[in-house]
Amino acid sequence: MSRSALIVHGGAGPVPPSELAERQAAVERALEAGWQRIGSGALEAAVAAVRHMEDEPLLNAGIGACLNADGVVELDAGVMDGRDRSAGGAACLRDVRHPIDLALAVMRDGRHVLLAADGASRFAREHGVEMADPSTFITDRKRQELAQGTDTVGAVARDADGHVAVAVSTGGRTGKLAGRIGDSPIPGAGLYADDRHGAVCGTGVGEAFMRLGLCRVAIVELEHGMDPTEVAKKAIAWLGRSMNAVGGIILIGREGDPQAAFNTPAMPWAQRVD
Ligand code: ASP
Repeated sequence: MSRSALIVHGGAGPVPPSELAERQAAVERALEAGWQRIGSGALEAAVAAVRHMEDEPLLNAGIGACLNADGVVELDAGVMDGRDRSAGGAACLRDVRHPIDLALAVMRDGRHVLLAADGASRFAREHGVEMADPSTFITDRKRQELAQGTDTVGAVARDADGHVAVAVSTGGRTGKLAGRIGDSPIPGAGLYADDRHGAVCGTGVGEAFMRLGLCRVAIVELEHGMDPTEVAKKAIAWLGRSMNAVGGIILIGREGDPQAAFNTPAMPWAQRVD
């Protein structure tokens, strides 16, 4: 038996100080939602936490996500299961109620790792994934524009059998070009999970995470025996140094406590270990 663990984050982007406590509370509610599923497995727990955050209007995923340059919400999500390194992602979604549900359906279908835009929506309908009117996600246009929300939500879990999993969901970057896809649904860039080493989830400037393959590099460092605390710190230092980029990371190794690191003023996160 290994120690079960769950860590959840609500993004490392700019948070108005007045919203910090509310965002932290939202992340803690997501931790609770995920922890209730830990007995069903790491994958279920990580997905439940992220699914919850897609409904928290202060977080940049699902409802309340940021707007792109056309004033439209386009959502990305990804999931990865450390048992067999199966992965699923969905990107540029305008009408899928819970992007993480679609990422999971793509993973379970198994033919592809990443579906985008209209084809992804068609796949969602064919697989009984709940759809939504695109306006559902825009809660308060003005607030979003002013807040410049650029976060992602994510969760990393390890269950009592030692399996690890990661789930991620995001609106991407405020003002991004239509059609832009970030790191969040891309294994190795915004997430990675491998039972032999651990699971990792990133948030921040997606282009930098993609160029560095940051989450995969973090897993390789765990594989080489680096202490998980060091892995998290080093990954974020490298992000800043080599790409002059900001962001955060959460991870769980095969053993030990979850870790979080970020180089922005704040990243609401919460963890539980049994
Ligand atoms: N990484 C996300 C993206 O680039 C956004 C973020 O985490 O701030 O799409």
